[in-house]
Amino acid sequence: MVPLLDTNAQNLPLKAELNAAFDRVLHSGHFILGGEVTAFEEECAAFLGAKHAIGVSSGTDALVVALIALGIGHGDEVICPSFTFFATAGAISRVGATPVFADVCPVCFNLDVASTREKITEKTKAIIPVHLFGQSAEMYALQALAKKHGLSIIEDTAQAFGAKYHGKSCGTLGEFGTYSFFPSKNLGALGDAGLLVTNDSELAETARAARNHGSKIRYLHDFVGGNFRLDALQAALLRIKLAHYPSYSAARSANATAYTDALSTIDGITVANESDCACPVSQNAKLKSEGARAVLPVAYGHNTHIWNQYTLRILDGQRDNFREHLKTAEIGHEVYYPIPMHRQPCFRDLPEASLSNCPVSDTLAREVVSIPAYPELSPAQRDEVIAAIRGFSS
Ligand SMILES: *Cc1c(COP(=O)(O)O)cnc(C)c1O
Repeated sequence: MVPLLDTNAQNLPLKAELNAAFDRVLHSGHFILGGEVTAFEEECAAFLGAKHAIGVSSGTDALVVALIALGIGHGDEVICPSFTFFATAGAISRVGATPVFADVCPVCFNLDVASTREKITEKTKAIIPVHLFGQSAEMYALQALAKKHGLSIIEDTAQAFGAKYHGKSCGTLGEFGTYSFFPSKNLGALGDAGLLVTNDSELAETARAARNHGSKIRYLHDFVGGNFRLDALQAALLRIKLAHYPSYSAARSANATAYTDALSTIDGITVANESDCACPVSQNAKLKSEGARAVLPVAYGHNTHIWNQYTLRILDGQRDNFREHLKTAEIGHEVYYPIPMHRQPCFRDLPEASLSNCPVSDTLAREVVSIPAYPELSPAQRDEVIAAIRGFSS
């Protein structure tokens, strides 16, 4: 039996440190924002190389705060990938704006720039690229597009804390980068928590007000924000885990390398080809290689991938059989994500232009499956996963 994720394997070895942090907060009597949150914000800003970091209540709320701070609301359109976790799209609707879904690349799973360009209208105010599964989207091309059309970029970095694009931390290239510390993310809290970063001091100030009912001075409200504040306790616990974070990322990366090395020797399993990436160029995405039955994920040379998920594509309509096989072998796995945003019931009344032309998202929703890659996975467990996959292929 190998679980998809084992949070206890990461948290319990830190029990003494976590308990000490709890005691510190308990005795401080200060439970929301305050010194622990400020210290955590400063440590994150330094770690990511951002000017400002703002702790908030979740990754979803980080997106909402970023949209509010940019003044995005009714009548505005925001483009995001159809193939993502729901929160990316939900946050856009929550502030009253219209989500517009662009398609993604079948190689890196991220926003397809040509598809994004096609979806821009007079009403477009921002693009939200998602660094899905821990690898950066094609930011230079998206930045050029944003600049040309006067758009803001909010990077949904929920799955890519500390991942890099050409040496820069994901989340620090747009107007805002947003992060989640949901327990299954690479830096996981013991509850809900999130963060946003920006290099713009004015935007930082507005975001700080937005997380606290639009207020800079007590009981004086410049605009309507919300309660999106981070708890001192989560900040204190996260500070401990942040200190260990580089070792977590190294272990995930070692797991990914070991998977790719072993699985790519199996007949019919190929590694995705970086040169087929459809993101920066306006060409038809190459969906599969000759004779391949399964495709392994690839980390691009210019990216530091942090492997929030190790996600395979199982071709020829075999994904659900593959899942059955893993289930029998007691290998934890999950489909991230089975229903793309342009097919969600809650978005069915959006204009046709929001929902059209996302064929790669549809394909990926049918093909992807993620296998255990968490840092504490032992070599023996990894071998168990590899053996199970080998069993399906033969
Ligand atoms: C997890 C996640 C979020 C939301 O984070 P929460 O902290 O759960 O609110 C947003 N976007 C993506 C891509 C995510 O994976």
